[in-house]
Amino acid sequence: MENYMKLEIAAKSINESFARSAVAAFALSLSPSLSELSDIKTAVSEAVTNAIVHAYHGANGQDKIEIECQTFQTSTEGVLHIKITDFGCGISDVEEALKPFFTTLASDERSGMGFTIMQTFSDGFSVTSEQGKGTCVTLTKRIGGGVARQEESYPSETVERERVNA
Ligand code: ATP
Ligand code: MG
Repeated sequence: MENYMKLEIAAKSINESFARSAVAAFALSLSPSLSELSDIKTAVSEAVTNAIVHAYHGANGQDKIEIECQTFQTSTEGVLHIKITDFGCGISDVEEALKPFFTTLASDERSGMGFTIMQTFSDGFSVTSEQGKGTCVTLTKRIGGGVARQEESYPSETVERERVNA
């Protein structure tokens, strides 16, 4: 393990953007490209939104979400592991939930695409869940490895500016 962080947030919708920005900021040490950074934010956003919306049935801020990240750097690439855990209702049938367009909240205009998006935007993905205990989503993102990496990498200064201006 090269680097590690753990974050605990209230399951409030206002914390979703904080969570995705925090993970992106942590990933900066791996010099991700803009597109890799955007992929990470998208996948984290879907997982955290699920925990907020489904795990606690939208009971804004009543319970917690844990986010853990680990980074590894090899001689050819960086690897980011993200684990997003809630302690909510759990998923009765994970296989069914992973299918594109499956949603239990169609009435809320949910499209059932969150898990599909997480898989599309990451290089590794898994879900474990126990009813009444909660759900854990793990995402892996490989960073760089190509020759274009240095030119493409997202300058940390820019992120700093964005954050100040946000
Ligand atoms: P969308 O993400 O497109 O807004 P969605 O959230 O319903 O819609 P998915 O993110 O793919 O779609 O999730 C599929 C289903 O899995 C959800 O409708 C919900 O029933 C269940 N689910 C997902 N995450 C959790 C969670 N953390 N706790 C409990 N149930 C969950
Ligand atoms: Mg979703």
